[in-house]
Amino acid sequence: MSRHTTFKIGGNADILVKVKSLAELKNLLSLAKEFDVPCFVLGKGSNLLVSDDGIEGIVISLDGLDEVKIDGDTVVCGAGASLRAVCIAAQKAALAGLEFAYGIPGTVGGALYMNAGAYGGEMSQVVVSATAIDFEGNESVLDLSDMQLGYRTSVFKSNGLIITSVTLKLKNGDTSEIKAAMDDFFGRRRDKQPLEYPSAGSTFKRPEGYFAGALIEQNNLKGVSVGGAQVSEKHAGFVINTGSATCQDVLSLINKVKDVVKTADGVELEPEVIFVGRK
Ligand SMILES: Cc1cc2nc3c(=O)[nH]c(=O)nc-3n(C[C@H](O)[C@H](O)[C@H](O)COP(=O)(O)OP(=O)(O)OC[C@H]3O[C@@H](n4cnc5c(N)ncnc54)[C@H](O)[C@@H]3O)c2cc1C
Repeated sequence: MSRHTTFKIGGNADILVKVKSLAELKNLLSLAKEFDVPCFVLGKGSNLLVSDDGIEGIVISLDGLDEVKIDGDTVVCGAGASLRAVCIAAQKAALAGLEFAYGIPGTVGGALYMNAGAYGGEMSQVVVSATAIDFEGNESVLDLSDMQLGYRTSVFKSNGLIITSVTLKLKNGDTSEIKAAMDDFFGRRRDKQPLEYPSAGSTFKRPEGYFAGALIEQNNLKGVSVGGAQVSEKHAGFVINTGSATCQDVLSLINKVKDVVKTADGVELEPEVIFVGRK
């Protein structure tokens, strides 16, 4: 899984299947059911910390469900489409509203699951509906009001549905203004974030009334490391892989940071990064 996550960490999945169509996904789910094999759905692996002992069962990559169709101000995306591709397609069609997402290195499905956001925008502001499938192969359509989108959370964290497509409603805009906003947001990321190292983005959620990065920095934790995992010198909110980090290194560092911040400031930091795999 180190080849399929932006952290570049994780042991083997028993099986990794890249599906190219909804029909293939349905066939795979029915086989998994027949042989009683657990499944895990993978986007771009940009918010994941995968166990050094890998993932049991089938990891399903939806990368192949990447079609993007634009009709007026509506964009229908396969769940495996990259946010980057969708942002660029929207910009070319003079559709505004998704600029915030340019630079978030995930898929549209992963972004909806996380209600990903940045710079004042988040998926809840642009999504109108999604299609999903359960592990029995039953399809359903969810409207925005069904999705319980909150800060880095959605109903998909608890209902176990696999998102297969996402419909966005954007606003008519000006291609060069949209491009300028996308470039501005991307530039801010490049300046502030340690994009030169593998990571899974912000390690912790923003605690109410605080910023995780500021709390970590105030406690002199920038640069602190366990094995190959390090609190970034550039942005204390990011744990980075300096080259040889294991999942265990990252987990130990996360616990160390949590302990220091809890003792010093009484604030409970909660990981945004999702741990997956064998414990
Ligand atoms: C450098 C960097 C910067 C980042 N910046 C931001 C940021 O500004 N804002 C932000 O919110 N996040 C940010 N992230 C985190 C990450 O990119 C987002 O959380 C993203 O939405 C995850 O998408 P993904 O496709 O990679 O999902 P994955 O990491 O592959 O999966 C995340 C979860 O979603 C589930 N999932 C994925 N696809 C589906 C699907 N189709 N159906 C059901 N479940 C699914 C997975 O099972 C998993 O539980 C950043 C990450 C990095 C590395």
